[in-house]
Amino acid sequence: KWVDQVIKQDQIDKYLINGKDFIDEDEIYSKLNSNKDCSKEKIRAIMEKSLSIQRLNFDETATLLNVTDEDMWEEMYEAAAEVKRRVYDNRIVFFAPLYCGNLCVNSCKYCGFRKENAAEERKVLTEEEIRKETDYILSQGHKRVIVVYGEHPKTDANYIANSMKTVYDVKRKSNNGKTSYIRRINVNAAPMSIEDLKMLKEVGIGTYQVFQETYHKPTYELVHPAGLKANYRWRLYALHRAMDAGIDDVAVGALFGLYDWRFDVMGLMYHTDDLERQFGIGPHTISFPRLTPASGSKLSTDSKYIVDNKNFKKIVTVLRLAVPYTGLIITARENPEVRDEVVKVGCTQLDASTKIGIGAYDKAARNEKEDKEQFTIGDKRSLDEVVNKLARMGKITSFCTAGYRCGRTGDKIMNLLESGTEGKFCKLNAVLTFREYLDDYASEETKKIGEELIKKELEEINNIEFYKNNKLLDVVNDYYKRISEGERDLYV
Ligand code: SF4
Repeated sequence: KWVDQVIKQDQIDKYLINGKDFIDEDEIYSKLNSNKDCSKEKIRAIMEKSLSIQRLNFDETATLLNVTDEDMWEEMYEAAAEVKRRVYDNRIVFFAPLYCGNLCVNSCKYCGFRKENAAEERKVLTEEEIRKETDYILSQGHKRVIVVYGEHPKTDANYIANSMKTVYDVKRKSNNGKTSYIRRINVNAAPMSIEDLKMLKEVGIGTYQVFQETYHKPTYELVHPAGLKANYRWRLYALHRAMDAGIDDVAVGALFGLYDWRFDVMGLMYHTDDLERQFGIGPHTISFPRLTPASGSKLSTDSKYIVDNKNFKKIVTVLRLAVPYTGLIITARENPEVRDEVVKVGCTQLDASTKIGIGAYDKAARNEKEDKEQFTIGDKRSLDEVVNKLARMGKITSFCTAGYRCGRTGDKIMNLLESGTEGKFCKLNAVLTFREYLDDYASEETKKIGEELIKKELEEINNIEFYKNNKLLDVVNDYYKRISEGERDLYV
């Protein structure tokens, strides 16, 4: 009954093109089949287009997906790394996931939280429990969370809005007495109506994330046999409704391992294209989790489409080249070695100190054993350990949340990214927020390495014409001094 109440057919139909979806399986197969065995010259010309920071079209993306020559892939890895450097420089943005509930009406065959799995204990966090989880996340040094919910009447839009208010409300003092709080909440939740999404907009949602899992409809229907999620189209247009609700930062994703990875990369591109066509703005980020073993799920280990590490790197590489200025997220599902590899070729956002059990952060704070999780965590390192490793690789950790709070979202941020201007702000805010982290949360060793990196960054910043011309140098040098003296949350 609840399922029937949630789905609003008119909020699907309005986005169809002549009654059809933007995903046309025949067209995707045709693009993949007609762009095989291309010459090296053609592949290199496509890479050049990416290097000039332009989005690739479907034929070009299909051409890259079909490359079989491993030497050519090596060139593509290098090109992807260069594209990333040109748009994102050496910055990596960090976040922590906060799982608020595992009650779910759905029957996804790859997930331990599906409703038939009686082995799982079900729980929805109370306000007090959300406070405790947030407190632990803050104690690690995070400033940005993604709140995650199953699909259930007990975690409806009202619950989500209230839990977001709770997270924003928590304040915590660091060891050196500085007050910290979550500055940006992204949401990973079930597809909602425009009315419900407007409610989340009012309480300050950052990015709204809904993964299609697979764009291949027959496979989608096979692995989502019942519940709300069985409706392919309600999910396919979830982010279109978010745009109509005024949420212009949206995030797409696919769960790789359910179907052919090349098809689903194309699906992500068609999704990107349709958002741009209908709203003038593509997704803020793309995620590409891989199927991992889940309790009681045969599919999660037996799927014939499981993606190995080599092909996983190829997925990230093609995405980086196809959408040069879209953020790419790699989560702690993957182990540290895989994460390091794909950070090199294109990923821009990572989580760390990750716990995905319900109430697991508070349990960790009390040294208690964790409950079962939705999937297996591959990277259990603390935030400090990951920041330390990245700093050794010359990468600066950013806790910046300024774009959202300065109104640099949606098409504004995409235009700024395209013109290379947003990156300039990000560079400054990365230094300011990294300074805060080093002073408030880093271990002595990380602080030492981090300070070397900051010194280099500041030298570079002071020599960049853009900052001199826009009078940003005085502002940032002033902010940096004030943060070093103890002020917090200054941004440009
Ligand atoms: Fe529910 Fe999400 Fe698991 Fe599906 S994947 S059963 S929607 S928690």
